[in-house]
Amino acid sequence: MLNRLGVLGWPVTHSLSPRIQNAALHAAGLPDWHYQLLPVPPELFAETVAGLPEAGFRGTNVTIPHKPAALALATHASPRAAAIGAANTLIFTAGGEVRADNTDAPALTASLPHPAAGASVLVLGAGGSARAAVWALREAGAAAVRIWNRTGERARRVADELGASAVTSAQVRSDPGADVLVNCTAVGLRGPASMDGLPIGESELDGFGCVVDLVYRPEATALVTAARARGIAVVDGLEVLVGQAALSFELFTGRQASVAAMRAALQSPRPADGGYIQADERSA
Ligand code: NAP
Repeated sequence: MLNRLGVLGWPVTHSLSPRIQNAALHAAGLPDWHYQLLPVPPELFAETVAGLPEAGFRGTNVTIPHKPAALALATHASPRAAAIGAANTLIFTAGGEVRADNTDAPALTASLPHPAAGASVLVLGAGGSARAAVWALREAGAAAVRIWNRTGERARRVADELGASAVTSAQVRSDPGADVLVNCTAVGLRGPASMDGLPIGESELDGFGCVVDLVYRPEATALVTAARARGIAVVDGLEVLVGQAALSFELFTGRQASVAAMRAALQSPRPADGGYIQADERSA
């Protein structure tokens, strides 16, 4: 019987996960495994997931907007998924368990050029990916994690829950530097590449040792372009995407993922639309 995997999202059409996961399955010599898109609206999420094991699914990734719901329906949750409040990976066991995990968090810290222990960090954003980033960086021993968000109240809530401190735009501008800057906002996702909407401009980037931009698009984001031009170490969104995919692959199959095969799959010719997520279709 085919071992089925997929990514649950709404919308999910432009997800790159089938491309990179199927490349890793092929590289691992697993021809009886297949990974597919699973577009499911929120109101049908729990009902659909309940039927997946019987249809041969061994696990799924989960993306916007289902990550909190995936955690809520799991019979077992990893401590990190529970602490973050969101799951991006579900595993269906032979015994009927639904195990939830979050591989976004370890993928972020693993992608950094230097260990996060002792580092000062500025996280931009307070949505799902920011929660995973803040939790992961705190867990990795970051000395100080500041959170800025367009809607300040959300930043304060995440900071209170996860042991960080919320900062305003004025506070960022008066002290913009840190060892690591992580962009977890959707700025850069749509329209012409621009840093508009972030609390820092290009010149303030000089105060950062490393810039991580979770956003990915066919060409580099304005933040990534500006940081590279200033000689700052950069981790782009595709690198973090591959990192979380590799960790989920290992949970699905018990085998190590070929990160090289995943990266190569991203280089292969893309569909006419670029094969990347478009405005309002943010899916891992
Ligand atoms: P989310 O939960 O919807 O949060 C979106 C965040 O972006 C919020 O903090 C929101 O601020 C902020 N934002 C949206 N538009 C903005 C604007 N014009 N100016 C300033 N801030 C703005 O989304 P998410 O899951 O955290 O994802 C955020 C980004 O990371 C997306 O682009 C997503 O594709 C990307 N991502 C990448 C990976 C990867 O593997 N590379 C993984 C996860 C997510 P408010 O609270 O004020 O609305």
